Amino acid sequence: MHISPAQNTVLDPQTDPAPRTALLLDFDGTLVDITRTPDSVDVSRELVAVITSASERLAGRVAIVSGRSIAQLEALWPGSLPDMVMAGSHGQELKVEGTVDSPVHTDVFARLAAAASGHFADDGGIVIEEKTFGLGVHYRLAPALRETVQAWVAAMADAHDLFVQQGDMVFELRPRGADKGDAVRAIMALDRFEGSRPLYIGDDLTDIPAFQAVQAMGGAAISVGPRTADHSDEQLTDVRAVLTRIGEIGA
Ligand SMILES: [Mg+2]
Repeated sequence: MHISPAQNTVLDPQTDPAPRTALLLDFDGTLVDITRTPDSVDVSRELVAVITSASERLAGRVAIVSGRSIAQLEALWPGSLPDMVMAGSHGQELKVEGTVDSPVHTDVFARLAAAASGHFADDGGIVIEEKTFGLGVHYRLAPALRETVQAWVAAMADAHDLFVQQGDMVFELRPRGADKGDAVRAIMALDRFEGSRPLYIGDDLTDIPAFQAVQAMGGAAISVGPRTADHSDEQLTDVRAVLTRIGEIGA
């Protein structure tokens, strides 16, 4: 009788219990408080310690999923977690084992950043954030200019076949065809994450596709603050509560 390898596999409940946990984490507004400008966030020693400890408990199944580019994230992070998986630019970039995988980028966002600087030169308080795969126009310091910013961003999206993502006091131009749900699926396909159950923690509208992705895999979505609460399985109030909750999550 032929016995295939699959039939030979015996699941032993003693050694193969419930799926192990993987932890997928948004960055801004989830691990660090939102600040007045994107460059002024603070990666505290406590945050590094919390993530390091979680990564040890979960055998490296911890990943950051951010709208920021990998280069931006690494500049903010003090280099203490070289092996951590990072998805940047809303799923356009993936860093695994120190190597960044990403599509070829064009200079469209550099050109749009220059155009935005000119367009908003007389409007105090608009912060232009150029990314490898996107352009954020922040109006946190000038909330009255929200509609002005929205109109310019919409016009640029039309002109360059881009996608507008609304965030927390920011409109962002991005390439079409990638979101944080794609990032989650790419991470969960890595060997290190195979067979695990993902928990995703996020605070903003861009996290909702990631929530849906983990829920489709039998995982759970945890919201931070009110914006994503209706889409989540568990609700946390703020960054402080996130760090406490991460400390509780075991393998
Ligand atoms: Mg966020």
